[in-house]
Amino acid sequence: MPRSATKVSLVGAGPGDPDLLTLKAHRLIGSADVIFHDDLVPAAILALADLRADVVNVGKRCGAKGITQAEINTRMVEAARRGLQVVRLHGGDPAIFGRLAEEIDALEEAGIPFEVVPGITAGSAAAAALGVSLTDRRRSSRVIIVSGHRATKSAPYDATDWKEVARGDATLVIYMPGNNFAPLRDELLTAGLPADIPAAIVSHAAMPEERYRAATLATLDQLPRMDSPAVLLIGHTLKRARRNSKEAVSIALDEAEAILSSL
Ligand code: SAH
Repeated sequence: MPRSATKVSLVGAGPGDPDLLTLKAHRLIGSADVIFHDDLVPAAILALADLRADVVNVGKRCGAKGITQAEINTRMVEAARRGLQVVRLHGGDPAIFGRLAEEIDALEEAGIPFEVVPGITAGSAAAAALGVSLTDRRRSSRVIIVSGHRATKSAPYDATDWKEVARGDATLVIYMPGNNFAPLRDELLTAGLPADIPAAIVSHAAMPEERYRAATLATLDQLPRMDSPAVLLIGHTLKRARRNSKEAVSIALDEAEAILSSL
């Protein structure tokens, strides 16, 4: 008789610091027979896996070359049908830009039970790095999470979409922001957002390589190139980022340079 399929755990690994794993994620990683993980999950977290576990990088960048989402889904289903404890380990939270919906569809279609274990998403880790709140009942009642692929590519949000954002009571958190912020700056300015609204970019939030820089909407395009992964945040709640920044001096210098070069 075939062994009944085990439950697949779709787990968030958080932004990179093992201390930011949930206890549940920690336990599941330690007891998994097979772990399919993203590029973004660092070695320090993968080291928590059992020595006998099969740890497979299914990331798009340096993982198994050319692995498709369909292949990841198939491998998860096959492993679960063999009765193995399967963990699909996502960077951050699986429900934010993680293709979680496609994985759930595939597991449901195959009749495999699953659970989702949330993780700390990069935007939260970036806000923590900057020492700011994403909402503030005095000035920000909304958090808008967008993918830069959509926000800054040639088919961007149209002006009507940005007008919503430009009401100014939102904190905009842009994942995968790329490096060219001039088109985004222009669209947000056109939509009516004030030029002096604060912004910040955080690279490698909650990782040893964590770095960040503050700017304003007007000086967004002059931010230094930051290594991926990075998130871009724009909104009034970012105002405190400068005051809290341990890199305050270099940020002030960056801004002074930006102002000088714009004269
Ligand atoms: N599920 C993840 C996001 C995956 S999309 C989450 O919830 O965080 C990948 C993007 O997430 C990266 O391009 C970057 O924009 C962002 N990201 C992930 N980890 C990050 C980190 N430690 N610091 C900054 N940005 C990060």
